[in-house]
Amino acid sequence: MPEISSSKPYRIGRSKTGLGLFATKKIKKGDKIIRYFGPMLDSKNKKHDDIDNKYLFEINNRWTIDGSVRKNIARYINHACRPNAESDVNSRKRKVVIRAIKTIEPGEEIKYDYGTDYFKIFLKPIGCKCDHCEKKRAKKRAEARAEKLRLKLKAEKKAAKKAEKQAVKDARKKKTVVKASSVKAAASKAAKRNTLSGVKANAHARGTGKPTRTKAARTKPLGRVQPKSPARAKRAL
Ligand SMILES: [Zn+2]
Repeated sequence: MPEISSSKPYRIGRSKTGLGLFATKKIKKGDKIIRYFGPMLDSKNKKHDDIDNKYLFEINNRWTIDGSVRKNIARYINHACRPNAESDVNSRKRKVVIRAIKTIEPGEEIKYDYGTDYFKIFLKPIGCKCDHCEKKRAKKRAEARAEKLRLKLKAEKKAAKKAEKQAVKDARKKKTVVKASSVKAAASKAAKRNTLSGVKANAHARGTGKPTRTKAARTKPLGRVQPKSPARAKRAL
């Protein structure tokens, strides 16, 4: 691991994704932290154009810093989508410095946004491991879990309701059977009572004991019914 002078406000340390650069002193917002440096690659040079590694820092269309050299401590700085530092590019001077964009406390990991191209090529396929993206994923997972739980509870509630409904239905059925049998029993009791008192049990019987006008009676008005003549009745006898 490269030596770092004790006057520098950072050290190389273990991070979530391997190694990273950590603040050893408080770094104020706007302060320059470290320079990102290495051999300049010219896109017009065929040999340079063939060089490919993860530490290439494109300054402009023509110039790119090859930051893979051991002395470039800044290459340890990891990417973050919500960083505490930024890369400050001076295109004319072909110089890049990493600068704090927030106050960084001792022990905090220094991070800057590597940019859209790097993100798309290297980070998106494997999933960005920065705190912001991890939190986002954790939140999504928590939401998915909550949704699953909600659906489960809903299904359970539905099943319980169905069971309850069925139970009520069953109970009602039982009650109806009981009721029907008790009605039958009451009816036979009443019939017995009526027979005993000399009146034939009649479903149409009313409280007065007079027969109800039947349909036949209604079609043949009561007034027209000829009473049997007593003489004829006598003759028959
Ligand atoms: Zn991220």
